[in-house]
Amino acid sequence: MAQRVLPAVPVTEVPVSGGGVFPVRRVYCVGRNYVDHIREMKEADERDPPFFFQKPRDAVVPDGTPVPYPPLTADFQFEVELVIAIGRGGRDIAVDEARDHIWGYAVGIDLTRRDRQRDARDMRLPWEVGKSFDASAPCGTIAPARDARHFKDSTITLSVNGVERQRGDIGQMIWSVPEVIAQLSKQVTLGAGDLIYTGTPAGVGAVAPGDLIVARIDGLPSLTITIVQAEA
Ligand code: MN
Repeated sequence: MAQRVLPAVPVTEVPVSGGGVFPVRRVYCVGRNYVDHIREMKEADERDPPFFFQKPRDAVVPDGTPVPYPPLTADFQFEVELVIAIGRGGRDIAVDEARDHIWGYAVGIDLTRRDRQRDARDMRLPWEVGKSFDASAPCGTIAPARDARHFKDSTITLSVNGVERQRGDIGQMIWSVPEVIAQLSKQVTLGAGDLIYTGTPAGVGAVAPGDLIVARIDGLPSLTITIVQAEA
């Protein structure tokens, strides 16, 4: 066997409720999936099909992680989202078979450099600088689908320093969980270990070092992160 010239790259894993860890393969996010958030962003047609972007696998950090305030932004924002954890891969997955591919669910936060995302939009450049950076994908403890009901109608909220900032319902998603899986699997072959962040309701806003963020979806373990000053 050929010798590895550097140490093996660490695997990214997310704790599972009841014990164990979920190994992460790829991280996908839905661009827009709640009408009220599309309206607050003043972008796009509400009937446009869903589109996807990716975050690096090692951007996923677990519950309780201190998140350093990232460079290159003065408008660092939260987006609370339902995360689907894929247990069985596939391509061209039918809507009515999508649930068979789900291992579990979690609460996630799609952290965003909003100023850089808006620049990219205005300049018709990719979203990477706005969306894909270190620690940009906090993910709560994953609940196995066998324990959790399949999410259709559940309250989704996010608070900063104890003040509620986002409130919505999973039932308001333009594209449902099975539809998101079906659409994404037309574009790429999904694999066991993939995480899909499914979009955020209205109320997104900026945070600063010292802020405590708590994200919740009824029926799932909550997700808490703190924003800390980046080390010099
Ligand atoms: Mn998002």
